[in-house]
Amino acid sequence: MNTPNFAIEIDAAFDSGNIEVRSISGAEADLGIRRDTGSDFFQWFHFRVSGASGRDLELRLRGLRSSAYPSGWPDYRAAVSEDRRHWARADTEWDPNADGGTLTIRYTPSSDLTWFAYFAPYSFERHQDLIADASLAPGVTARVLGRSLDGRTIDCLELGEGPREVWLYARQHPGESMAEWWMEGALGALTDPSDPVGRALRQRCRFHIVPNCNPDGSVRGHLRTNAIGVNLNREWAAPSAGQSPEVLAIRGAMDESGVDFAMDIHGDEAIPAVFLAGFEGIPSITERQLTGYQRYRTILARRTPDFQTKHGYPVAPAGKGNLAMSTNQLAERFGCVSMTLEMPFKDNDDLPCPEQGWSPERSMVLGRDCLAALLEWLETEG
Ligand SMILES: [Zn+2]
Repeated sequence: MNTPNFAIEIDAAFDSGNIEVRSISGAEADLGIRRDTGSDFFQWFHFRVSGASGRDLELRLRGLRSSAYPSGWPDYRAAVSEDRRHWARADTEWDPNADGGTLTIRYTPSSDLTWFAYFAPYSFERHQDLIADASLAPGVTARVLGRSLDGRTIDCLELGEGPREVWLYARQHPGESMAEWWMEGALGALTDPSDPVGRALRQRCRFHIVPNCNPDGSVRGHLRTNAIGVNLNREWAAPSAGQSPEVLAIRGAMDESGVDFAMDIHGDEAIPAVFLAGFEGIPSITERQLTGYQRYRTILARRTPDFQTKHGYPVAPAGKGNLAMSTNQLAERFGCVSMTLEMPFKDNDDLPCPEQGWSPERSMVLGRDCLAALLEWLETEG
């Protein structure tokens, strides 16, 4: 049998697509990643390869040393899928010295069409399905908090009859798609009438859930910003209608409800672990807030082997917390317990999965575990 030598085709003109094709030769290609509109950030990629059945693909993403997080590439493996449902990882090699930093992905598809992405994508269509399913569950209200610059809805699901105001929100950074997979797991637990954790939490809390804070960036295939290149998680001190209507809408709804407990869901490019970041540097921090945050971390670490407290970000010194970031702003504004959850793009090195790395499946399970930890946190508070 002859090996085909016609050129593969590479496309990214679809939801969250992002790639620049520099050259293609047979089953090899030189590629780049497009910057977020109006900003210098780039790291998210998502593209399709056609005509590759049985061929040894070699895809070289160039110039990545100037990406947003160059430390995200060592030990990283690209996500790959042939059915767009199951996402595995492809052999991937990082050479910081070749052509400004080159990530080489090698994969031999068994069918003609293959999709590659920085992490398993979570499409805006799937987002519509997610909120449709949730809003059909008993006692769930779907609210539109506002609109993005491109006119997309900022959707918020509300449920529960309890007095504690809990806010869960995700994808301020749109390329961190694991955050919306986490939301799918969490919403599954909360809306399932036969889930005992969901039932108990609904008695104790009123939930406000924003599964996607940045739909424009998500659809545009951005890593970190909205339609005009604004990093929404630096807008919480002074959001504006012209620059960050997404945050303006969410913060306004929080002001109406108040906030007792908040979780902001993210992904981290470099650190191969799940971890939390808190609000230690805010000016008006109280012992009660700090103890509440530390107690949640301890409970979560005991409940799931996917969470750990050894690796994470350096803690801000006293009084130096950046109030433009949501976790700090909410802790300062409401005196609440507020935190940022980070999941890896790479893998959880404490419990690695050679086939999938960190995955949508693991993210969804973590969403459920975080809720179970919240229930224990509420049940055991002094
Ligand atoms: Zn983030």
